[in-house]
Amino acid sequence: MVTIPTAAGAIDHSDLGATLMHEHVFIRSPGVFEAWPELWDPDKEIANAVERFSELKDAGIDSIVDLTTIDLGRDAAMVAAVARQVKLNIVMCTGVWRQPPNLFRQMNSDEIADLFVRDIQEGIEKSDVCAGVIKLATQPTVDEVNEVMLRAGARAHRRTGVPISTHSDVSTESGLAQQDVFEREGVDLARVVIGHSGDSSDTGYLARIMDRGSVIGMDRFGIDRKLNTEGRVETIVKLCDMGYAGQMVLSHDTNCFMDTMPRASTEAWAPNWHFLHITNDVLPALRGHGVTETQINEMMVDNPQRIFSQQDPY
Ligand SMILES: [Zn+2]
Repeated sequence: MVTIPTAAGAIDHSDLGATLMHEHVFIRSPGVFEAWPELWDPDKEIANAVERFSELKDAGIDSIVDLTTIDLGRDAAMVAAVARQVKLNIVMCTGVWRQPPNLFRQMNSDEIADLFVRDIQEGIEKSDVCAGVIKLATQPTVDEVNEVMLRAGARAHRRTGVPISTHSDVSTESGLAQQDVFEREGVDLARVVIGHSGDSSDTGYLARIMDRGSVIGMDRFGIDRKLNTEGRVETIVKLCDMGYAGQMVLSHDTNCFMDTMPRASTEAWAPNWHFLHITNDVLPALRGHGVTETQINEMMVDNPQRIFSQQDPY
């Protein structure tokens, strides 16, 4: 039996079910709410998240992957408090996003990898919630600091077997540059999700990533500013026709709380950017374009399960 760590304890891999592979529970400026707790109401935000995720479970989604890193204000105790009250599984992550702690600039990849491995094997922060995935980010290109982080994540991945999921930038086609670094670290690219690939409608670029073995994250449904739903759906339809349903996963990259702008502004800025957009609108649109139930099942269930089931260190 292969088990997967979640914020409410380990589950059997077959219980992952329909999975949104790149979402967030709480995105916060790191340190601020610890210093000035009066700036937010944790009980209210936990209750809101419980409501969102109960709706999501009722809509047919069984699991989400919370790719909130330390530099996005990750808080395992808060997420665990939500997870205990919902039937939805929440897989948490280690790794870093685009603003790694300054201290990491004084550390080498092996030293940083040790920290990621601790999150995976012992638990995140002071909790017993273990990280189930390693998040890594580069934007716009892979710079020197990014490369140290990518190598650290690659080494933590090879030591633990936990999969990698990235934030890439389609404007510079950086998914390929991320793969280059992983390849130099001896990573099996089939165990890597190149995230935010769905911001591109260039099937040539996306096929190049998948032909090297990786899975691509079609994971920003609702962020119309980058590419609208119709464009995202059409790209997936084309790639399914080209035979790539086994290498795509779907998600929104949305959240229950984000302190970068007020909720009302977010709703006005991106009205479809919510947890139910895929089940309500995207899957029906894919079906309408002839994507089969088998292909939808691959993208929603089989691919996530395969990614999380390969756990051997190497
Ligand atoms: Zn994200």
